[in-house]
Amino acid sequence: MIVIMKPGAPPEAVRQVSAAIESKGLQVHLSEGKEVTIVGVVGDKSLLSGFNLELFDGVDKILAVTESYKLVNRKFHPQPSTVMVGDVAIGPGSLTVMAGPCAVESREQLLETARAVKKAGATILRGGAYKPRTSPYSFQGLEEIGLGYMKEAREETGLRVVCEVTSERAIETASRYVDMLQIGARNMQNFELLKEAGKSGIPVLLKRGLAATIDEWLNAAEYIISEGNPHIVLCERGIRTFETSTRNTLDLSAIPVIKVKSHLPIIADPSHATGVRDYVAPLSKAAVAAGADGLMVEVHPDPSKALSDGPQSLTFPAFEGLMGELGDYAALAGREIQAKRP
Ligand code: PEP
Ligand code: MN
Repeated sequence: MIVIMKPGAPPEAVRQVSAAIESKGLQVHLSEGKEVTIVGVVGDKSLLSGFNLELFDGVDKILAVTESYKLVNRKFHPQPSTVMVGDVAIGPGSLTVMAGPCAVESREQLLETARAVKKAGATILRGGAYKPRTSPYSFQGLEEIGLGYMKEAREETGLRVVCEVTSERAIETASRYVDMLQIGARNMQNFELLKEAGKSGIPVLLKRGLAATIDEWLNAAEYIISEGNPHIVLCERGIRTFETSTRNTLDLSAIPVIKVKSHLPIIADPSHATGVRDYVAPLSKAAVAAGADGLMVEVHPDPSKALSDGPQSLTFPAFEGLMGELGDYAALAGREIQAKRP
């Protein structure tokens, strides 16, 4: 339920409404816009039956929020949110590019890639140290050693770093090395992992599950925010369909749908969505046109030797070419690619 205050309602009126709600043991979440304040109420609203909040001073109207996700709901927070990952902003006005190898394979591979993606204009380095692989015999990642290389790359380049975490133990370790935790598609409904990421307070990149509806995805984000962590960025990375020409199908429509349903920023990952290098650039441009706040792109010094996801990884020149082209698309969408200064 949300209580919409009248434009310019005084702080005292907001305080009285909040106090009444809290006196019944319910939680209040304030969203203060330029003109209007919205008082979001989470919990069993039948507890409020003794109050007629509509008659309180400064109250304009009361609306029920029927969706099961509340704090990530745009009704609770009408302005789009900007999530800060260190000094990098993800949200309206900017196009944030996260790039790097699928997996951290060696110190040299990671540092070389970090330098190249920074030069091309990325601001966040990606690289998996815990790899959720379909086969247990495939390369599983360098774990803490890989995290150490991520931290070293961050110190050398000034890039922010994001790394996937696949267990509660990995969150504990990664939180000492990285700026942002990634929850991968396979773990989108690992509720204990989501709660732990929520408790960490570290920015979270939450990928959409392989077969998750948008409402399931937003409920997963609600698990994180309800633990007190509002620093969440969603990532559309393709869903399973009957089509086999691509690894998954990039659900471009999810981008404008999320913008209507939620205030959280959303980026697109055309690498995992397509699984094919040649389709990464066209779908990056399409995602920007659809309103994405950023992109995640896999880049490798020599994709033919990559230990995972080589066929979808861009070479350094291909990534530089894409970044060169993206500026104009971003400008048309009212955004700017914010490169890191050397
Ligand atoms: C990844 O980013 O390397 C990854 C495994 O992604 P997803 O969870 O989207 O498959
Ligand atoms: Mn990958």
